Amino acid sequence: MKISHIEHIGIAVKNIEESISFYEKILGLKCYGIEEIKDQKVKTAFFKLGETKIELLETTGPDGPIGKFIEKKGEGIHHIALAVEDIEQSLKEAEAKGIQLIDNKPRPGAENFEIAFLHPKSTGGILMEFCEKKQL
Ligand code: ZN
Repeated sequence: MKISHIEHIGIAVKNIEESISFYEKILGLKCYGIEEIKDQKVKTAFFKLGETKIELLETTGPDGPIGKFIEKKGEGIHHIALAVEDIEQSLKEAEAKGIQLIDNKPRPGAENFEIAFLHPKSTGGILMEFCEKKQL
């Protein structure tokens, strides 16, 4: 597999508006996009820092994955996303090397990316995401 860079760091937050205000007013970053991913029951807000982004994640329902995460662990870093060249091939490779996948197949994420998660049990406790920009 070929990983080019850290595409984004996903951060679980309770209140996305309050968090945006911290990143904008304290850190001086600019939120350039807010998007709801119905499929994953999350609302996302993006900041760009060079090639890497910060993705804030707020749940849109208590039963969504971010809602459950916050209930268990509180706010904080939720996942790290690695930009890969060929997501399907990368998943196959990881699986062949004994990595437990959460997603066997890529699914649609924010910003026209295809995404898939690797299980933290196989990655040293970190929820890792592979992502690849879809060709439009
Ligand atoms: Zn992500």
